[in-house]
Amino acid sequence: MPRLRIRYVGTVQGVGFRPHIFRLAKAHGLAGFVNNDPAGVIVEVEGPEERIQAFRIESVGKAPVLARISELVCESIQPIREKAFRIKESERADSVDTQVSPDAATCPECLKEIFDPEDRRYRYAFTNCTNCGPRYTIIQAIPYDRPYTTMKKFTMCQKCQSEYDDPQDRRFHAQPNACPNCGPRLIFLDRAGKRIPGDPISKTIEMLLLGRIIAVKSLGGFQLACDALNQDAVKTLRSRKYREDKPFAIMARSLDQIEKYAIVTDTERELILSPERPIVLVPKRKEPQLAEEVAPGQKTWGFMLPYTPLHHILLQESGMILVMTSGNMSDEPIAYLDDEARSRLDQIADYYLTHNRPIYIRCDDSVVRVVEGRPFFLRRARGYTPRILSARLPGKKSILACGAHLKNTFCLARSGQVIVSHHIGDMDNLETLRAFEQGIEHLKRIFKIQPEAVAHDLHPEYLSTRYALSLDLPRIGVQHHHAHAAAVMAEHEIQGPVIGVSMDGTGYGPDEAVWGGEFLVADYMDFDRKAHLCYIPLPGGEQAIKEPWRMMAIYLERIYGDEFLNLDIPSIRALDPGKWQVLKNAVEAGLNCPLTSSMGRLFDAVSAVLGIRAVVNYEGQAAIELEMTTEKHVTSGYEFSLINEGDEILIDPLPVIEACVEDLRKRVSVGRISARFHNGVAEMITEVCALTRDQTDINEVTLGGGVFQNMILVRGTKSRLEDQGFRVYLPREVPINDGGICLGQAAVALRRMT
Ligand code: ZN
Ligand code: ZN
Ligand code: FE
Repeated sequence: MPRLRIRYVGTVQGVGFRPHIFRLAKAHGLAGFVNNDPAGVIVEVEGPEERIQAFRIESVGKAPVLARISELVCESIQPIREKAFRIKESERADSVDTQVSPDAATCPECLKEIFDPEDRRYRYAFTNCTNCGPRYTIIQAIPYDRPYTTMKKFTMCQKCQSEYDDPQDRRFHAQPNACPNCGPRLIFLDRAGKRIPGDPISKTIEMLLLGRIIAVKSLGGFQLACDALNQDAVKTLRSRKYREDKPFAIMARSLDQIEKYAIVTDTERELILSPERPIVLVPKRKEPQLAEEVAPGQKTWGFMLPYTPLHHILLQESGMILVMTSGNMSDEPIAYLDDEARSRLDQIADYYLTHNRPIYIRCDDSVVRVVEGRPFFLRRARGYTPRILSARLPGKKSILACGAHLKNTFCLARSGQVIVSHHIGDMDNLETLRAFEQGIEHLKRIFKIQPEAVAHDLHPEYLSTRYALSLDLPRIGVQHHHAHAAAVMAEHEIQGPVIGVSMDGTGYGPDEAVWGGEFLVADYMDFDRKAHLCYIPLPGGEQAIKEPWRMMAIYLERIYGDEFLNLDIPSIRALDPGKWQVLKNAVEAGLNCPLTSSMGRLFDAVSAVLGIRAVVNYEGQAAIELEMTTEKHVTSGYEFSLINEGDEILIDPLPVIEACVEDLRKRVSVGRISARFHNGVAEMITEVCALTRDQTDINEVTLGGGVFQNMILVRGTKSRLEDQGFRVYLPREVPINDGGICLGQAAVALRRMT
C-alpha cells in the first residue's frame, strides 16, 4: 500500500478544511492523518493507489466554500501500515504562512437553523459555522484561534463545545461558534443609549415601519437603515448624513425581491448570491420604483442581499427593503466601536440595534458592477479582504505600498504575493488617517509581514505620502498614472512595455502639474509620457473639482474670449458674470491655478456646458450624470485635434467643446451631444494609441484611472481599440479607480528594488 504526503497551502485554516479531509479519507477508506501546520495543512494518506488518487482530486475539487488552495505539493513516502485516519492536534509555531479568510455570508445550512423554530439557534443572530461567518473583522492576531478573536470573552456552553470538538461536525473548530445560551446578544438602544426592553429585532422593525433611522451593528461596522420605500425617511437620512445626492445601497431579502425593481443578468445574479455578498449595481426598472431619494439621478440601484443572520432575520420578518448605508457622516470612515458609534452617529440615528460582539477591524461593504460579463470593482472591501490576489508581483521582497488620496487602499506584499487592504476612504481627515494606520498595523500583524521598503505617490501633501515619509524605511515614489498602468500590468502578470492609458481626475506630475489625461509607454521600471491633454489652468485648485462651471468657463474663454458670456445657451445664461470676473482675475494673477491635463475635468466642463452640473455634491457627480444622459445608438463623435510637439502628442479638446456648443445652439439634444462627446474621447484614445504603436511597435494597452468607471467610455474605448488589433487589459480584482493605485506602486517599487 503506497503512502502519500500532501501539503495544502492557501486559505485552508479556519474554513473547515480538516473535517473535509477527515470525511473524505473515511469515505475512501484511507488511513493516515491531517494536521494544521504553520504553512497550511498537511495530510498523509495510505491505501490503494486509485483511492489515494481519487482522494487527492476530491480534496481540491470538493473543498469547503471558503477554502482557497494556492499550492499543492505531493510526495510519496514510506508506508507505516496505519489502520485508521485521525485529526492530529494543531502545532503552534511562530511563523504562520496560512491565510486569514475574508468574512463570509451566512451559509444555507446555518440559515435553515435560524429559521427552524425547533432548532436551538432559532432566530439567533450570531449563528455561524466553518463555512460562514465573521473572520477578518474579528481576528486580532494569528493563528486564527478563538482566544485571538473578539469572541474570546464568550465561553462556549457544553453543546457548542462538543460541536467545536467533533471532527464530524460542521462547527469543528469554528472559532466564532456560539448559541443563544453562551454567545453574543442583541440590544436595542434609544438615542440616549438607554436600553429598550423587548425583542430587539421586533422593536427595530416597529421603528423602521414608523420611518425611523436605525444604526445597525453589522459585520465590519455600523450601517444606517431605513425604509427604502419611505421617501421622508430617506430624505431625513440624507439631510442628517450631509449626503445630498450620492446613491445609497439597499438590501432586499431575496433575489426575487431585487428583480422586482432591477433588471439582473446571470453574472450579476451570481455576484449578488456569492458568499462575498457585495453591493451590485444593477439597472433600475421603470416600474415599480423605490423612493427616488435612494439614488437620485441614477439609472442603477446598488442592491445587496443579507449577509449576516441579523440581516436575514430583520429582512425576512419585516418583508421590507432597507436602505443600508455606511454608518458615518459623509467623508468619514464607517463607525465600528460602540461608544464611537454612539457619539458619531448621535445626530443621525434614532435608535441603535447593537450587540456585544466587538468588531476588531472596520470593513465597508464592497461595490461591484458587471462589465462585459465580468465583475468590475468600484470598491473592494468586506468579503474580499484580506484575500491574496491571484497575480504574483515582479519581486519577492516585502513591501508596503501606501496608495493615493481618494478611495485609498494600501497593500502589503511578500514573496510575490500581495494583499490589498479594505477600502479606507478619502484621506482628508484625521479619522481616515487613523483608520489607514490601524489597517496597516493589523494586516502586518495577521500576515506577519515586516516591510523592507515603502512605496508612495509623488504628491508631497497626500497624507498617505506623508505617512510613508515618516517611516524609517527605504522609500520609492511612484508617479500616479504610472501606478495606474502598472496595477493593470501586475494583475495580468505582463511585463510590458505597454501603452498605459490613464484617464483620471487628479494625479501629481513630476512637472508639478495636475496630470490626468495621459498616454504613457510604461514597464514596471519606468515610463515615457507620449501624449496628454493640453494643459489648462485649474482655477481655484480643489475648488474647481467641486464646481465644474469653473472648468466650463475657462475652456469657453479659451475658445471665445470674454465673448463666451454672450453665448445663448442655458449654462451660460445661468452663470454669474461677477463670479467669472473673480475667477478670471485669479487665473491672470496665477493664484491657486495649477496647470492640468485632467480628463476628469474635461468631463466636468462638458457636463457643465450641457447644463447638467455646475456644482457637484460628491466626487465624480458631473461625469456620472453626463454618462446617465447619454443617448444610445449614436455613432458620430467630436474630433480632438492632435498636435505634435517634439516627442509628445498634445491633445487639444477645444474643438470638441466648440462642437458641443454648436450642437447646443442647433438644439441637438443633450443626450446626443453627450454620446458624441463619449464617442469622440474613445476615438481619440484609439487614434493616439495607434500613433504610439506606429512609433514603438507596442500593441498592448492598459486602461486605468477613475474616468474609466464610466461604462460607456470603457466599452467604447475597448471595442474600438480591439477593432484596431490592440490587446486591451482592464483591472480584474482591484478597482480601476485610485483603489487600485497601491498595487501598481508595489509592482513598480519591487521591480526597482531588484
Ligand atoms: Zn454556516
Ligand atoms: Zn452555546
Ligand atoms: Fe487616479
